[in-house]
Amino acid sequence: MHTRELLTGENGVREKHGYKYYFGKSFMVCGIVSFGITLHYYNKQIKIIRSMKIIDNLLSYNNLLKVRDLSSIDIIVFHCTELPTLADARKEGEKIIPGRKEKCGNSGHYYIDRDGQIYRFIEDNRIAYHVISHNDHSIGIEIVNIGRYPDWYSTKNQIPTEEYTKAQIDSTVELLAFLKKKIPSLKTIKQHFELDNQMVISSDKPNIKVSRKIDPGPLFPWAKIVNVWQELLKIS
Ligand SMILES: [Zn+2]
Repeated sequence: MHTRELLTGENGVREKHGYKYYFGKSFMVCGIVSFGITLHYYNKQIKIIRSMKIIDNLLSYNNLLKVRDLSSIDIIVFHCTELPTLADARKEGEKIIPGRKEKCGNSGHYYIDRDGQIYRFIEDNRIAYHVISHNDHSIGIEIVNIGRYPDWYSTKNQIPTEEYTKAQIDSTVELLAFLKKKIPSLKTIKQHFELDNQMVISSDKPNIKVSRKIDPGPLFPWAKIVNVWQELLKIS
């Protein structure tokens, strides 16, 4: 039997909630209730062969962000960091944006490193700044990928070349399943560029504009993630 355990926590404290998921069978057991689950991934029944844990590493301003009811969340937005490392993304997330009343920066809620490890930077019940016009009702998932770094707006640099790792995609699937169970009001998933189609003047050709946001980009296996999401909607 394939099993996995999800570790997560609130208020910066790692807690064990005791969820155990048994995939490859037609049921799933957690610490409190039992219910059915069959999840298809890449058109095959999912087989979880490793433990997943979420490490809480909340940003310094987490507690300053506005609190919301989990039931107000209906969308997950996918991003990539467009930076070399998780440490760079962390540094970027900690930068306070001048003039913002909460004295906070821009950040997703979850970050998935290249080895598949998932970190939580912002609690689910806090409104993070990660997508214009949709922050209040969304969860942001950032996947570490270099994207167009270091010259995001050069006309020569608009096609990302770094593949996402298998560990990142596996963790993305697990995180989706975890969030759908935790936040039943979730209805849809989107990529950042779908919600922000602003154009900006390129850094090298003043007469040419490029997209402000392209993430997570064409190398993100979107069709597969959508498949997983549709399966999750069916079983929830
Ligand atoms: Zn983004």
